[in-house]
Amino acid sequence: MLALSAVVCMIAASFPTIALIMTNSPDYYRVAVVVTQNIVCFFLLGSLLSLFLFNQIDWHYERSIRDELTGLYNRRYINERISQSLSNSGSRGVIAVVDIDHFKKVNDSFGHDVGDNTLIAVSNILKSFMGQQDLIGRYGGEEFVLFLSQSDSESVKTLLEEMSKAVETKASVMLPNPVTISVGYSEVSKEDTLHSLFSKADSALYMAKRNGRNCIIKK
Ligand code: GH3
Ligand code: MG
Ligand code: MG
Repeated sequence: MLALSAVVCMIAASFPTIALIMTNSPDYYRVAVVVTQNIVCFFLLGSLLSLFLFNQIDWHYERSIRDELTGLYNRRYINERISQSLSNSGSRGVIAVVDIDHFKKVNDSFGHDVGDNTLIAVSNILKSFMGQQDLIGRYGGEEFVLFLSQSDSESVKTLLEEMSKAVETKASVMLPNPVTISVGYSEVSKEDTLHSLFSKADSALYMAKRNGRNCIIKK
């Protein structure tokens, strides 16, 4: 945009000289100078305003799809993206719902700020396990959703186990008790909708909680 304006301004800058050479009249020269000044002002102001507006649009768009605390995608965006993926015929993948165990105790024992920092630490660890095609979002409270593009059961299981271990060892540094997560996951099948996929992963998570937490269950 700025480059285009610069080119237009450079062309416009030659108008007075061209007018003088072609007409040899100071009146035409003066008119050409005024025209040039107007063109330069119009393009410079226009491009600066456009740059500002494009920046604002990007900024508002990012805010509308991100969770403020963790910077992960928010619930609305993650739902939209998973629905899009499901509408592609032959879509594959795995949805995993991750919930921090006994998180209320972290808040109650150490305060809300430590709770917030724990959420940030856990989200960063989960994010570090995501591939380029994967999606991760904060679904609400201390619950995260992962949409993994790979659907090979064994590699998903290994990835989730490594992720869970990493949370236990790395996110716990600021707390005397280890931070653990429970995970429920489910593979995408042809007839799945967003709702059915989440119900399967949610009920797997529920089983993980009932199993004593700090475990991974597939449904
Ligand atoms: P469970 O193992 O069954 O998942 O128990 P839990 O304590 O993790 O779950 P529960 O639903 O009882 O409590 C979740 C807590 O998460 C309660 C709420 O205050 C806290 N929470 C939700 N959002 C935030 C947040 O943004 N920051 C902080 N610090 N706490 C939050
Ligand atoms: Mg919890
Ligand atoms: Mg929860």
